[in-house]
Amino acid sequence: MEEEEECEYESETESLRSEERRQKRRVEMGKEAVGGGGGGGNGDGGGEEAAGEAGRPDREILVKMDSQVLDCTICFEPLRPPIYQCEVGHAVCHVCRGKLGNTCPICCRGIGFSRCFALEDVVDTVKVPCANTNYGCKQFIIYYQKEKHEKTCLHAPCFCPEDGCSFKGSTGSLLLHFVTEHKWSPTYFHYDKAQWISIPRHCQFTLLVGEEDLSMFLVVNTFVHVGNALTMISIRPHEASRSCYSSEISVHDGESYKGRYVLQMDPHVGGSSLHDRAQLGRFFLMVPPELVDESTDELTINIRIEKIQCDVHH
Ligand SMILES: [Zn+2]
Ligand SMILES: [Zn+2]
Ligand SMILES: [Zn+2]
Ligand SMILES: [Zn+2]
Repeated sequence: MEEEEECEYESETESLRSEERRQKRRVEMGKEAVGGGGGGGNGDGGGEEAAGEAGRPDREILVKMDSQVLDCTICFEPLRPPIYQCEVGHAVCHVCRGKLGNTCPICCRGIGFSRCFALEDVVDTVKVPCANTNYGCKQFIIYYQKEKHEKTCLHAPCFCPEDGCSFKGSTGSLLLHFVTEHKWSPTYFHYDKAQWISIPRHCQFTLLVGEEDLSMFLVVNTFVHVGNALTMISIRPHEASRSCYSSEISVHDGESYKGRYVLQMDPHVGGSSLHDRAQLGRFFLMVPPELVDESTDELTINIRIEKIQCDVHH
């Protein structure tokens, strides 16, 4: 009996607290509306963009709030419809509700749960800026879809692989960074066409840029005791489960097919944001020292990159 009483007490303070929270939220929302949404500072542009989905831009307001109220009280994951509540008003996600039976673990009441349509309306309209705002993403995303968006956001940063450089940015700004800061001169290429390029024996990075879509590829040249190891990486913010490119690299004894040569085909060029610098990939081409042109100290390589079926949209 005593335990139950304790539970009653807890539930009352809990409900009081959450009512307080709701009250506070109402006040804050009101303030923001009156103040013309000055508190956000997250940009009006995104709000306008998101308005298309909401349909009523004239009703949009900027709000600052504790994100906890949008999370499940049990698993702390963002709430998404269907949302359930106990009779006191503790909101739980449908996954947790399925595991709970009829008793709310927060207030210990065993009355069962009902749908919370009011909160469903709220979570369906609350939009937050993408974490990649600083890298150029102007989108506002429904709070519970934020993680999903960011996993494929094309503005997620890629990293500069040069030693001692901590630059990160969208692929576009990374290309600019390579050219202006490190004086790299990219080699532009067409897909499905073989192309000759010369790379100095000790040059670690050679940047290739697709003419059609400005996708970046890095030929990483690692000098090892038996020769040079070459690997190709597709620079992109997210590693697709299946790569969108296949590649062929060959190194010839001079610019002729008649002499000796080594060849490597990679059916799925590995994608990387280079967050862990440029690593030797699973596929690499071992170039013996005799294929290096002694007079110029260069490797003459032939590359061909093909676009293949892939899961990630561009
Ligand atoms: Zn949950
Ligand atoms: Zn409860
Ligand atoms: Zn984004
Ligand atoms: Zn750099």
